[in-house]
Amino acid sequence: MLGREIILGSIFEKIENKPGLLMLSGGIVSAVMLACLKDMKTELQAVFFGYRSSKNMDRRSAERLANYYGVDLKIVDLNGVYGSMPIEYPVKFEKFNDYYIPFLNGVMVSVAVACAYYSRRRNVIWGLTSNSSAYYSDCSVNFFKSQSKTVYYGTNSNVRLIAPFLEVSKAEVVRKAKKLNVPLELTQSCFSNFEGPCGKCFGCIEREHVLKFNGNVF
Ligand SMILES: [Zn+2]
Repeated sequence: MLGREIILGSIFEKIENKPGLLMLSGGIVSAVMLACLKDMKTELQAVFFGYRSSKNMDRRSAERLANYYGVDLKIVDLNGVYGSMPIEYPVKFEKFNDYYIPFLNGVMVSVAVACAYYSRRRNVIWGLTSNSSAYYSDCSVNFFKSQSKTVYYGTNSNVRLIAPFLEVSKAEVVRKAKKLNVPLELTQSCFSNFEGPCGKCFGCIEREHVLKFNGNVF
């Protein structure tokens, strides 16, 4: 996959080793992004967004990953916005929008950009993949492009929004994880409120698929 490596390399060059703020969800993709950035020796802070009041699995994963890679982690609580959302997610794989949390990524990007601006960090790094852009409207390529413009104009070009994996599949991200020895056991993908993976939600099914088959997801 030399061609793909070259593409990834050119995307990461945009980061220019300027201080960055990584949106760290505790999932596989942001963990691999963290590993790539550390591999590049990027000066980095991470930010985790809490938006499910009684669910802490993802926060624990983010904390463990930040600790593993020696990165300062900022916790931002969005429960004032999303705390009353349903805890249980319906399981309907034909209808991916069942898992849509209204404008969640728009809110997270906006807060991350404000944090980056205040801490004089040039880049906000977002772990979008080609898979996520296919499922959720606020992960789409058009949404990313419009947000990038908004960030550019809204910060007088002081902050940039970057998504190095935008055209990369989760399967490719997992292959990258193996190359960089990313501790995927520290990550979690479950959307439910259980302490361990429920094995039924979209996050769990997708994770199992991508880890087991390491190929195309759905
Ligand atoms: Zn689950």
